[in-house]
Amino acid sequence: MPVVSVRDARKAFGGADVLRGITLEVERGEVVAVIGPSGGGKSTLLRCMTLLETLDAGDLSYGDLAVARQDGSGKAIYARSDVLKQTRSRFGLVFQNYNLFPHYTVMRNITDAPVRVQKRPAAEVEQRARELVAKMGLKGCEDKVPCQLSGGQQQRVSIARALAMDPEVLFFDEPTSALDPELTTGVLRVIRELAAEHMTMVVVTHEMDFARDVADRVVFMDGGVIVEEGPAAQVLGDPREERTRAFLARQG
Ligand code: ADP
Ligand code: MG
Repeated sequence: MPVVSVRDARKAFGGADVLRGITLEVERGEVVAVIGPSGGGKSTLLRCMTLLETLDAGDLSYGDLAVARQDGSGKAIYARSDVLKQTRSRFGLVFQNYNLFPHYTVMRNITDAPVRVQKRPAAEVEQRARELVAKMGLKGCEDKVPCQLSGGQQQRVSIARALAMDPEVLFFDEPTSALDPELTTGVLRVIRELAAEHMTMVVVTHEMDFARDVADRVVFMDGGVIVEEGPAAQVLGDPREERTRAFLARQG
Protein backbone atom coordinates (compact mmCIF):
# COMPACT_ATOMS: atom_id res chain seq x y z
CA MET A 1 0.00 0.00 0.00
CA PRO A 2 1.44 3.41 -0.92
CA VAL A 3 2.29 5.77 1.95
CA VAL A 4 0.40 8.51 0.13
CA SER A 5 -1.53 8.59 -3.10
CA VAL A 6 -3.53 11.09 -5.11
CA ARG A 7 -5.72 10.13 -8.02
CA ASP A 8 -7.01 12.45 -10.72
CA ALA A 9 -6.41 15.47 -8.48
CA ARG A 10 -7.85 18.73 -9.77
CA LYS A 11 -7.64 22.27 -8.42
CA ALA A 12 -8.57 25.63 -9.88
CA PHE A 13 -8.06 29.13 -8.54
CA GLY A 14 -10.63 31.62 -9.80
CA GLY A 15 -11.28 29.74 -13.04
CA ALA A 16 -7.60 28.97 -13.71
CA ASP A 17 -6.95 25.21 -13.75
CA VAL A 18 -3.77 24.70 -11.77
CA LEU A 19 -3.95 20.91 -11.27
CA ARG A 20 -5.53 19.16 -14.22
CA GLY A 21 -5.71 15.52 -13.17
CA ILE A 22 -2.63 14.47 -11.21
CA THR A 23 -2.14 10.85 -10.20
CA LEU A 24 0.82 10.03 -7.98
CA GLU A 25 1.59 7.20 -5.58
CA VAL A 26 4.55 7.22 -3.23
CA GLU A 27 5.77 3.91 -1.85
CA ARG A 28 7.42 3.40 1.52
CA GLY A 29 11.12 4.30 1.38
CA GLU A 30 10.82 5.96 -1.99
CA VAL A 31 12.31 9.38 -2.81
CA VAL A 32 10.38 11.25 -5.48
CA ALA A 33 11.74 14.47 -6.97
CA VAL A 34 9.21 16.80 -8.57
CA ILE A 35 10.68 19.15 -11.15
CA GLY A 36 9.26 21.57 -13.67
CA PRO A 37 8.89 25.22 -14.64
CA SER A 38 7.59 27.87 -12.28
CA GLY A 39 3.80 28.08 -12.29
CA GLY A 40 3.41 24.42 -13.24
CA GLY A 41 1.47 23.54 -10.08
CA LYS A 42 4.19 21.84 -7.99
CA SER A 43 3.56 23.85 -4.82
CA THR A 44 -0.20 23.56 -5.25
CA LEU A 45 0.13 19.77 -5.49
CA LEU A 46 2.18 19.69 -2.28
CA ARG A 47 -0.23 22.06 -0.54
CA CYS A 48 -3.17 19.84 -1.52
CA MET A 49 -1.35 16.68 -0.43
CA THR A 50 -0.57 18.28 2.96
CA LEU A 51 -4.10 19.61 3.52
CA LEU A 52 -3.12 23.29 3.26
CA GLU A 53 -5.44 23.48 0.27
CA THR A 54 -8.44 21.33 -0.61
CA LEU A 55 -8.78 19.51 -3.90
CA ASP A 56 -11.75 20.36 -6.09
CA ALA A 57 -11.85 16.82 -7.46
CA GLY A 58 -10.03 13.54 -7.03
CA ASP A 59 -8.95 11.16 -4.28
CA LEU A 60 -6.29 11.54 -1.61
CA SER A 61 -5.22 8.82 0.84
CA TYR A 62 -2.51 8.21 3.40
CA GLY A 63 -2.13 4.45 3.69
CA ASP A 64 -5.43 3.18 5.00
CA LEU A 65 -6.76 6.68 5.70
CA ALA A 66 -9.08 7.98 2.99
CA VAL A 67 -8.68 11.74 3.21
CA ALA A 68 -10.74 12.74 0.18
CA ARG A 69 -12.88 10.59 -2.08
CA GLN A 70 -14.56 11.72 -5.23
CA ASP A 71 -18.32 11.40 -5.39
CA GLY A 72 -20.29 10.42 -8.50
CA SER A 73 -19.65 13.78 -10.15
CA GLY A 74 -15.89 13.63 -9.36
CA LYS A 75 -16.06 16.26 -6.61
CA ALA A 76 -13.61 15.64 -3.74
CA ILE A 77 -15.46 14.94 -0.50
CA TYR A 78 -13.24 15.25 2.57
CA ALA A 79 -13.26 12.93 5.57
CA ARG A 80 -14.33 14.05 9.03
CA SER A 81 -12.05 16.28 11.08
CA ASP A 82 -10.78 13.40 13.30
CA VAL A 83 -9.48 11.62 10.19
CA LEU A 84 -7.87 14.83 8.94
CA LYS A 85 -6.24 15.29 12.34
CA GLN A 86 -4.86 11.73 12.26
CA THR A 87 -3.60 12.37 8.73
CA ARG A 88 -1.71 15.49 9.77
CA SER A 89 0.54 13.48 12.06
CA ARG A 90 1.57 11.18 9.17
CA PHE A 91 3.51 13.76 7.17
CA GLY A 92 5.95 16.60 7.66
CA LEU A 93 6.42 19.61 5.45
CA VAL A 94 9.51 21.74 4.90
CA PHE A 95 9.00 25.04 3.10
CA GLN A 96 11.34 27.27 1.18
CA ASN A 97 11.25 29.91 3.93
CA TYR A 98 11.71 27.74 7.06
CA ASN A 99 8.61 29.13 8.83
CA LEU A 100 10.20 28.84 12.29
CA PHE A 101 8.76 30.63 15.30
CA PRO A 102 11.10 33.65 15.55
CA HIS A 103 10.85 34.07 19.33
CA TYR A 104 11.32 30.37 20.18
CA THR A 105 14.71 28.75 20.68
CA VAL A 106 15.84 25.98 18.34
CA MET A 107 14.85 23.37 20.94
CA ARG A 108 11.43 24.89 21.51
CA ASN A 109 10.81 25.11 17.75
CA ILE A 110 11.49 21.37 17.51
CA THR A 111 9.69 20.20 20.66
CA ASP A 112 6.62 22.43 20.61
CA ALA A 113 4.33 20.46 18.27
CA PRO A 114 5.24 16.96 19.52
CA VAL A 115 4.47 18.06 23.09
CA ARG A 116 1.48 20.33 22.48
CA VAL A 117 -0.17 18.72 19.46
CA GLN A 118 0.89 15.08 19.74
CA LYS A 119 0.79 15.18 23.58
CA ARG A 120 3.99 13.14 23.88
CA PRO A 121 5.99 13.16 27.13
CA ALA A 122 8.24 16.24 27.27
CA ALA A 123 11.35 14.33 28.41
CA GLU A 124 11.14 11.83 25.54
CA VAL A 125 10.55 14.60 22.98
CA GLU A 126 13.46 16.61 24.40
CA GLN A 127 15.80 13.65 24.03
CA ARG A 128 14.66 13.01 20.46
CA ALA A 129 15.11 16.73 19.69
CA ARG A 130 18.71 16.63 20.95
CA GLU A 131 19.42 13.65 18.71
CA LEU A 132 17.94 15.49 15.74
CA VAL A 133 19.92 18.64 16.52
CA ALA A 134 23.10 16.55 16.42
CA LYS A 135 22.04 14.75 13.25
CA MET A 136 21.36 18.08 11.53
CA GLY A 137 24.82 19.37 12.48
CA LEU A 138 23.37 21.97 14.84
CA LYS A 139 25.06 21.12 18.15
CA GLY A 140 25.62 24.31 20.12
CA CYS A 141 22.57 25.99 18.56
CA GLU A 142 20.00 24.51 20.96
CA ASP A 143 19.31 27.75 22.82
CA LYS A 144 19.66 30.17 19.93
CA VAL A 145 16.72 31.85 18.24
CA PRO A 146 16.31 31.68 14.45
CA CYS A 147 17.73 35.14 13.70
CA GLN A 148 21.06 34.06 15.25
CA LEU A 149 21.37 31.27 12.65
CA SER A 150 22.25 31.21 8.97
CA GLY A 151 19.54 30.39 6.46
CA GLY A 152 21.01 26.93 6.02
CA GLN A 153 20.96 26.30 9.77
CA GLN A 154 17.39 27.56 9.99
CA GLN A 155 16.37 25.18 7.23
CA ARG A 156 18.02 22.30 9.07
CA VAL A 157 16.07 23.27 12.20
CA SER A 158 12.88 23.11 10.17
CA ILE A 159 13.84 19.63 8.93
CA ALA A 160 14.50 18.56 12.54
CA ARG A 161 11.14 20.03 13.53
CA ALA A 162 9.37 18.02 10.83
CA LEU A 163 11.23 14.81 11.82
CA ALA A 164 10.39 15.27 15.50
CA MET A 165 6.76 14.47 14.63
CA ASP A 166 7.88 11.02 13.39
CA PRO A 167 6.21 11.41 10.00
CA GLU A 168 5.79 8.56 7.53
CA VAL A 169 6.57 10.90 4.66
CA LEU A 170 8.35 14.23 4.40
CA PHE A 171 7.48 16.83 1.77
CA PHE A 172 9.95 19.53 0.76
CA ASP A 173 9.00 22.53 -1.38
CA GLU A 174 12.19 23.92 -2.92
CA PRO A 175 14.06 23.64 0.38
CA THR A 176 17.20 25.35 -0.90
CA SER A 177 15.87 28.00 -3.26
CA ALA A 178 16.30 30.79 -0.69
CA LEU A 179 19.90 29.77 0.13
CA ASP A 180 23.35 30.64 -1.19
CA PRO A 181 25.19 27.74 -2.83
CA GLU A 182 27.42 27.14 0.20
CA LEU A 183 24.43 26.96 2.55
CA THR A 184 22.54 24.79 0.06
CA THR A 185 25.20 22.09 0.35
CA GLY A 186 24.56 21.48 4.06
CA VAL A 187 20.81 21.21 3.57
CA LEU A 188 21.13 18.85 0.60
CA ARG A 189 23.57 16.74 2.63
CA VAL A 190 21.02 16.10 5.39
CA ILE A 191 18.33 15.24 2.82
CA ARG A 192 20.76 12.80 1.18
CA GLU A 193 21.40 11.20 4.60
CA LEU A 194 17.66 10.81 5.15
CA ALA A 195 17.37 9.20 1.71
CA ALA A 196 20.15 6.75 2.63
CA GLU A 197 18.09 5.84 5.70
CA HIS A 198 15.08 5.18 3.42
CA MET A 199 12.97 8.05 4.67
CA THR A 200 9.99 8.40 2.32
CA MET A 201 10.25 11.85 0.73
CA VAL A 202 8.71 14.02 -1.97
CA VAL A 203 11.06 16.84 -2.88
CA VAL A 204 10.17 19.70 -5.20
CA THR A 205 13.54 20.94 -6.39
CA HIS A 206 15.32 22.84 -9.11
CA GLU A 207 18.62 21.14 -8.17
CA MET A 208 18.95 18.66 -11.03
CA ASP A 209 22.22 17.09 -9.84
CA PHE A 210 20.64 16.49 -6.46
CA ALA A 211 17.52 14.97 -8.06
CA ARG A 212 19.70 12.66 -10.16
CA ASP A 213 21.69 11.47 -7.12
CA VAL A 214 18.96 11.13 -4.55
CA ALA A 215 15.63 10.47 -6.23
CA ASP A 216 14.40 7.00 -7.10
CA ARG A 217 11.83 8.57 -9.36
CA VAL A 218 11.56 11.95 -11.06
CA VAL A 219 8.22 13.52 -11.91
CA PHE A 220 8.19 16.37 -14.45
CA MET A 221 5.16 18.66 -14.03
CA ASP A 222 4.14 21.40 -16.40
CA GLY A 223 0.80 23.13 -16.91
CA GLY A 224 -0.90 21.22 -14.11
CA VAL A 225 -0.18 17.75 -15.46
CA ILE A 226 2.55 15.15 -15.05
CA VAL A 227 4.18 15.28 -18.46
CA GLU A 228 6.64 12.49 -17.76
CA GLU A 229 7.86 10.37 -14.87
CA GLY A 230 10.27 7.52 -14.40
CA PRO A 231 13.59 6.51 -12.89
CA ALA A 232 15.77 9.58 -12.27
CA ALA A 233 18.45 8.47 -14.73
CA GLN A 234 15.91 8.01 -17.52
CA VAL A 235 13.89 11.21 -17.06
CA LEU A 236 16.94 13.40 -16.53
CA GLY A 237 19.33 11.59 -18.87
CA ASP A 238 17.08 10.41 -21.67
CA PRO A 239 13.69 12.14 -21.48
CA ARG A 240 10.94 10.83 -23.73
CA GLU A 241 8.92 14.02 -23.98
CA GLU A 242 9.93 17.12 -25.89
CA ARG A 243 8.68 19.39 -23.06
CA THR A 244 10.92 17.61 -20.57
CA ARG A 245 13.86 17.87 -22.93
CA ALA A 246 13.27 21.60 -23.45
CA PHE A 247 12.96 22.22 -19.70
CA LEU A 248 16.15 20.32 -18.91
CA ALA A 249 18.04 22.15 -21.65
CA ARG A 250 17.14 25.44 -19.94
CA GLN A 251 18.53 24.22 -16.58
CA GLY A 252 22.09 24.39 -17.92
P1 ADP B 1 4.92 26.04 -8.97
O1 ADP B 1 5.13 25.68 -7.55
O2 ADP B 1 5.14 24.88 -9.92
O3 ADP B 1 5.73 27.23 -9.39
P2 ADP B 1 2.30 26.89 -8.12
O4 ADP B 1 1.55 25.70 -7.65
O5 ADP B 1 2.88 27.79 -7.10
O6 ADP B 1 3.39 26.42 -9.18
O7 ADP B 1 1.34 27.79 -9.01
C1 ADP B 1 0.63 27.31 -10.11
C2 ADP B 1 -0.33 28.38 -10.56
O8 ADP B 1 -1.33 28.53 -9.58
C3 ADP B 1 0.30 29.75 -10.76
O9 ADP B 1 -0.25 30.33 -11.91
C4 ADP B 1 -0.12 30.48 -9.51
O10 ADP B 1 -0.23 31.86 -9.76
C5 ADP B 1 -1.46 29.89 -9.20
N1 ADP B 1 -1.78 29.90 -7.77
C6 ADP B 1 -1.15 29.22 -6.81
N2 ADP B 1 -1.69 29.43 -5.60
C7 ADP B 1 -2.72 30.30 -5.80
C8 ADP B 1 -3.69 30.92 -4.95
N3 ADP B 1 -3.71 30.68 -3.64
N4 ADP B 1 -4.59 31.74 -5.52
C9 ADP B 1 -4.57 31.98 -6.85
N5 ADP B 1 -3.69 31.43 -7.71
C10 ADP B 1 -2.76 30.60 -7.20
MG1 MG C 1 6.42 26.40 -6.11
